Amino acid sequence: MKEFNSDLHYHSPYSVGVSKNMRIPIIAEQAKLKGLHFLSSADCLNGNWLKHLKENLVEEENGVFKSKNNSINFVLGTEVQCSDRLHHVIFLPDFNAIEEVRKKFSNHTRELDSVMGGRPRLRLNAEQTAEIILDAKGLIGPAHAFTPYFGVYAYFDSIKKAYGEQGKNISFMELGLSADTFLADKIPENRGYLFLSNSDSHSPWPFRLGREFNRIKLKEPSFKELKNALTKKEEKRISLNVGLDPREGKYHRTACQSCYTKYKLNEAVKLNWKCIECGKEIKRGVLERIEMLSDGKDKSPEFRPEYLHLLPLQEIIQSSVKIKLITSGKIQVLWKTFVEKFGTEINVLIDEPIENLLKVDKDIGEKIDCFRKGLVLFEEGGGGKYGKPVICKNEKEFEKKKFELGEKEKKQFKAQQKKLFDF
Ligand SMILES: [Zn+2]
Ligand SMILES: [Zn+2]
Repeated sequence: MKEFNSDLHYHSPYSVGVSKNMRIPIIAEQAKLKGLHFLSSADCLNGNWLKHLKENLVEEENGVFKSKNNSINFVLGTEVQCSDRLHHVIFLPDFNAIEEVRKKFSNHTRELDSVMGGRPRLRLNAEQTAEIILDAKGLIGPAHAFTPYFGVYAYFDSIKKAYGEQGKNISFMELGLSADTFLADKIPENRGYLFLSNSDSHSPWPFRLGREFNRIKLKEPSFKELKNALTKKEEKRISLNVGLDPREGKYHRTACQSCYTKYKLNEAVKLNWKCIECGKEIKRGVLERIEMLSDGKDKSPEFRPEYLHLLPLQEIIQSSVKIKLITSGKIQVLWKTFVEKFGTEINVLIDEPIENLLKVDKDIGEKIDCFRKGLVLFEEGGGGKYGKPVICKNEKEFEKKKFELGEKEKKQFKAQQKKLFDF
């Protein structure tokens, strides 16, 4: 069996807020530089994107499609929104299955061929949606399960219950950027599901595409093999989940979605979810939602692979050159130098010996070394704002900064409590 670095959820330009550069040739080129081997087609039920897919991918016989420029493997996949306001990750075996599903969905949405309908909104609930996908021999599971927008745990206490009669046929769930295995396994029900870590990217550049991915063992790249990997837990086909530290995720902490002030759960409740600073809505964080449903035990099932936290290389370079804009030319040039020399970004981040990296750029090499040693702290994300990594030079600096960040938060909460008291 071979291992495939797989990013199985992102979006086409026919979804809201997605880069026009999201075209198959560019996606395939960037995926190769990142070190990915297997991708979802994204948005495969949208007629406009489907045309682009047919023009730019070559169909193999086994439900896998290859990019014309560099033979990256693609599988047909999409995300949909159901009438329960949940997002679902979906995979389908071939174009016939897409037509079957499109026909059934077309009675329940007008968005399949709209220019903004990449992630169609259906007037079908989670159970009905799952039934149609499973009838077409496809696969379905909840997307970014914990996010306060459209995550299954935003509205339900149980995945199984959310899918009704089809609950027993759900085998996997997507963690989303604000959670990882360690957090997700605190909820007892989740210990029965396989976990996917996908980028949900809206741009093809490698600080987004592949910022989360799964390492999956397949006999060959095929839909049947992917199905085995996503349904047969005992085969342990998912050998590694990789992704951002949850503290970098946009919805990790409970925070105001306008001014991003963080709150403790009980204080947000007391304030009736209205920010004391600006009056706007406070959004419950993934961390607090998981705490609510946790049984207090830290245990993972036997089939669960390791979860590796990753920082995009461009973010590491950014912290070295201290430029605010991650798309700046200087960062791109340095990124390219590393990736061209060592093959892929994933290789630079995980495998390449540090002494080789130091030869290219001493400061960046040292920063990657610190990242590998886990000397990274975060100004934590929440309320829709990404967290910010702080890479420390050594243990001593790590402890000092950790203390400072803790103190800053304590101070903030203290001031808040005073205001609450006056309130
Ligand atoms: Zn979504
Ligand atoms: Zn606010």
